[in-house]
Amino acid sequence: PSDQLLSPQQEVEEIIKLRKEIEHHSYLYYAQDAPEISDAAFDSLMRRLRELEHKHPECYDPNSPTMRVGGYVDEQFMPVQHAERMYSLDNAMDLNELDAWIDRVEEFFGKFVPMTCELKIDGSGIALTYTKGQLERAATRGDGRVGENITANVRSVRDVPLRISNNGEQGILAPSIEVRGEVYMPKTSFEQLNAAAHEIGHATFANPRNAAAGSLRQKDARITAQRDLSTFIYAIANAGTISAKGQFAMLQWLKASGFHVNPDVRYCTQRSEIADFCKRALDMRGSLPYEIDGVVVKVDSFAEQEAMGFTARAPRWAIAFKFPPEEQATLLRAITVQV
Ligand code: NAD
Repeated sequence: PSDQLLSPQQEVEEIIKLRKEIEHHSYLYYAQDAPEISDAAFDSLMRRLRELEHKHPECYDPNSPTMRVGGYVDEQFMPVQHAERMYSLDNAMDLNELDAWIDRVEEFFGKFVPMTCELKIDGSGIALTYTKGQLERAATRGDGRVGENITANVRSVRDVPLRISNNGEQGILAPSIEVRGEVYMPKTSFEQLNAAAHEIGHATFANPRNAAAGSLRQKDARITAQRDLSTFIYAIANAGTISAKGQFAMLQWLKASGFHVNPDVRYCTQRSEIADFCKRALDMRGSLPYEIDGVVVKVDSFAEQEAMGFTARAPRWAIAFKFPPEEQATLLRAITVQV
């Protein structure tokens, strides 16, 4: 609805209505892995809410979906308290918004600082804890503070090392290390899974991301083991424990330690390289065997990341450049298969 037509009171009512609506769709998406609306439709509800909340600071509520990491902890799993919070990402919907974000970073430091660009993998976030080199625990992001213990399920994901070496480090590996990344389902495996589900009259998944999240959050780990899941690892929660001092070097460390790290990454020392990477990623999108929904641009240096810090739901030192939505077609296809 156009702002001109709404009274302030009506806008406040819309805020309340939108919060409820977003909660409902978040529940379907994160808890049930079964969204009813497209991501683009969900994102426009969020944008509208953000816009109205901006106009009505008196409606401030720390529990608003705009102030939190979306996610649920299902009681069928043991809760896991994240030692360091897991965050979402702020979005840039086009190259202009990306440029505006780079401007803000530049203003903050008084100069352009090196940034690392990675593909934004359209999967489900996980945290893996290794103690004395052994995989001890795997957790979902949940609401960012508390996730779900999915260790048994993750053990069957073939490219997750059950043991890690300390190749990345000359010295001794820290007693405990927590890495973070994305579990995803390749496009062809997603299509096969849906076709098989359709064949026996079972519900299908809306897209590979929901299929990955749904497969990971199975009560019976044997079902997860039958699904084709892979990972890309891109972070260390306690990065202070390794010698790498920035994102790009950390990715090399992760790779040397035995993790599956996405090869399409670029350390950018100039602004133009970032836009180039985004354009190239958009070009390769269709030919990759897995889905990406954008590019994540991160201030490279850990010291500089720390200087910028976090908002309630996302780091200030990173941004997700989102591709135009592609999944509407997928969602439609999935619905067609279901009937
Ligand atoms: P997000 O998926 O937009 O971005 C944050 C996540 O990106 C991180 O938590 C991380 O797991 C992941 N990621 C992938 N590659 C990464 C990389 N290289 N580096 C760092 N992180 C990387 O945010 P979100 O909060 O998880 O979810 C919001 C998304 O979910 C939106 O796209 C929204 O449309 C969708 N959603 C849809 C519905 C619906 O009903 N359709 C409901 C809720 C949410």
